[in-house]
Amino acid sequence: MKNKPEELATDSSVYKTLLESTRAIPWKIDWKTMKFAYIGPQIEALLGWTPESWQSVEDWATRMHPDDQGWVVDFCVAQSKSGIDHEADYRALHKDGHYVWIRDVVHVSRDENGEVEALIGFMFDISERKKTEEKVVALQKKLEEYSFQDGLTGVANRRMFDSFMDEAWHSALRNHQPLSVLLLDIDNFKQYNDLHGHLQGDECLKRIAKVLMGAATRSKDFVARFGGEEFVIVLPETNPAAALKVAERCHQHLLREQIAHGNNSASQLVTLSIGVGTITPARNDSLTDFLELVDQRLYEAKHQGRNRIVAA
Ligand code: GH3
Ligand code: MG
Ligand code: MG
Repeated sequence: MKNKPEELATDSSVYKTLLESTRAIPWKIDWKTMKFAYIGPQIEALLGWTPESWQSVEDWATRMHPDDQGWVVDFCVAQSKSGIDHEADYRALHKDGHYVWIRDVVHVSRDENGEVEALIGFMFDISERKKTEEKVVALQKKLEEYSFQDGLTGVANRRMFDSFMDEAWHSALRNHQPLSVLLLDIDNFKQYNDLHGHLQGDECLKRIAKVLMGAATRSKDFVARFGGEEFVIVLPETNPAAALKVAERCHQHLLREQIAHGNNSASQLVTLSIGVGTITPARNDSLTDFLELVDQRLYEAKHQGRNRIVAA
């Protein structure tokens, strides 16, 4: 049933009241002239500029943060030309000079020939949401900074290793005790990833971390992820023979896991090369030199064919 003219008039005034009392700000731009045909009066409360001051798209484009201007204008023009509805988040300039985060949701309206006729949209104030988002991002950063745990494997991370190692070194120096370090690197792990995928590679790293935790069991023993697919075990108050035992236990426990590799030059299974070093530090010794020595032994284990231990 068709509405009578007076009912239509009532309808449109109802629509107008509805539009102008929502928190979203409605607007319309005539595509041919690029002029505002309408903008909701709420715009003044949000951005300080009167509705009358919104004349052309230039007013819209210039009242925007310079970092957003380029891509937002290009994006919106391109989408509109192609007749695609779209939305963009950007910082709109308040008359006072500060910026307000806005989400602009745009519908492209066409005439009966399919030509773009007008853009009709709503602006939403999203500053609260943006503030929360920024807080979450900052918080995550902080957490990472303070974290001592490797996110993937759960063992200590490199940062924790650095401070533990430093402490263990000075304690060994003070107490004239031997200190042992194992550097362990997965053999042909790049090929493992290539063959099984990165996700299964991650699973493999987790299993190996568990194996190492199970192999270094004294309360002072310390296991960390040194980086990528390399791990480090620090064994305070441990002589060369005992350190070698721990290295052998790492190999035995990993063998028990029977993790198929498929493209490892040393075995059918996933294997580790291990460099082992022990030092009773004296005042003139350097921790960096000691770690360098252990790393050379790891390199030697690789060179000799992998899946082996090189100690003194
Ligand atoms: P080598 O026996 O000489 O150690 O050979 P490799 O392939 O293990 O050594 P390379 O250093 O060439 O490659 C290390 C690989 O470890 C490459 C890298 O993609 C992978 N890797 C490092 N970190 C991660 C990780 O967090 N997850 C996964 N899935 N792979 C990782
Ligand atoms: Mg490596
Ligand atoms: Mg490796």
